[in-house]
Amino acid sequence: MLRIDLGALREGPVDMVQAVPADDPLFEQLDFQLSGPVQLSGRLMEAGTGRYYWHGGLRTRVKSACRRCLTDLDLAIDQPVEVLFTEDDGTDDPAAYSIPQHAAELDLREAVREELILAVPEYSLCDEGCRGICPTCGTDLNAGTCSCERQPDPRWAGLEELRAALPDDEVS
Ligand SMILES: [Zn+2]
Ligand SMILES: [Zn+2]
Repeated sequence: MLRIDLGALREGPVDMVQAVPADDPLFEQLDFQLSGPVQLSGRLMEAGTGRYYWHGGLRTRVKSACRRCLTDLDLAIDQPVEVLFTEDDGTDDPAAYSIPQHAAELDLREAVREELILAVPEYSLCDEGCRGICPTCGTDLNAGTCSCERQPDPRWAGLEELRAALPDDEVS
């Protein structure tokens, strides 16, 4: 699994549909937790001597939490994948993976892990309009309100100072 016979690939494109279980050792020690298998799809093809393209997608589900209110989330990940495997180890293309010369198989494991890490957002929100929790009392502001004083928005502090420095009749 996740190893493609390069002999067959040189004969013509190879279609791929694979599901890698969430508990596969490949996914150990990630900063997030998978809640479903990683589904790989797409097509592999030769793209010149010693170069192979994988054009397809990666889909899975990831456990996460809203960064504002900390509600548990189950994120759907659906990431297009477009990577190049090359025997040229001097490549500086960030979407390219170096592979050994004259290998019999193309090992997709490193690329799958890397593409998965790229696909998972560092921060997620339960909703764009999530109000978060009050930093003072911990009330979930989506569910209710609290009577804590709101800190003034620091972006307006400079404007307030300017306003205070102006003579009264110039303040509109
Ligand atoms: Zn939230
Ligand atoms: Zn509060």
